[in-house]
Amino acid sequence: MPIKGPKILIVEDEPSQLELLSYNLNVEGYDVYKADTGEEGQLILQETEIDLILLDWMLPHTSGLEICRQIKRNKLTKSIPVIMLTARGEEDDKVRGLDTGADDYIVKPYSVKELLARVRAGLRSTNGDHSVNLLTYEQITMDLIRHIVSVNGSDIHLGPLEYKLLRILIETPARVFSRDQLLERVWSNALEVETRTVDVHIGRLRKQLNAVSDVEYIRTVRGFGYSLDKA
Ligand code: CA
Repeated sequence: MPIKGPKILIVEDEPSQLELLSYNLNVEGYDVYKADTGEEGQLILQETEIDLILLDWMLPHTSGLEICRQIKRNKLTKSIPVIMLTARGEEDDKVRGLDTGADDYIVKPYSVKELLARVRAGLRSTNGDHSVNLLTYEQITMDLIRHIVSVNGSDIHLGPLEYKLLRILIETPARVFSRDQLLERVWSNALEVETRTVDVHIGRLRKQLNAVSDVEYIRTVRGFGYSLDKA
C-alpha cells in the first residue's frame, strides 16, 4: 500500500487556482484536501488531522484573514502552519496576515516551484509532527517512523545499509558525499571496510530505485562519491 504524504488543506474559491494547486501538490505526493470556502475548510479541519493549510486571502463569506484568526485561536488547530495566498499589492494585508498568526504568505501569481519550497519549509517548521519524520525528494518518500521507502507511490524494500545510505543522501539532496564520508556514517567499523563496499551498496540502492522509476536519482561523481540529484 503506498504511503500518503503530509495532509494539506487548500482553501481557495477560484476553481482554476484550486485545481492547479491541488494537481501540483498531488504530484509531489501530498494528500490534498480542497475547500472553496473558509467554512468548508473549518469542517475539514474538524474531521482530519491536517499538516499544513494554504489559505486564500480573498474568500466569499468569511475572509481568509478571519479564518486564519479562528484557526490560530483554536488550540486544536493553532499549531498547523498556515500559508496565506495573497494578491499582488496587498502589502498591508500581508503584514496583517502575519499579525493574525499566519506562518507565511505567498504573493499571486507565484511559481509552483516557490510554492512547493514554502510548503516544505512550513512542514519542516512543525516540531513533533509526523511530517518531520517524512523525508522526501522528488518522487521518493522515506517514512522514518514506519521505516518505509516509496517511489512513485510504490513501496520498495531496502536492506539496512541501502536504507542508511538513502537516508543520508535524501537529507541533503544535490550534496555530493565522498565515499569516505558515506563509509564513516553508514558503517560503524569504517576502518575495516573498503571504500569499494560503498560502491556495491550504492549499486544495489540504485538498482532498487530504477526498478520502480525511470528517473536516475543517484549521481556518480567519478573518483569521488555520490549525490541524490535528479539529472
Ligand atoms: Ca479568492
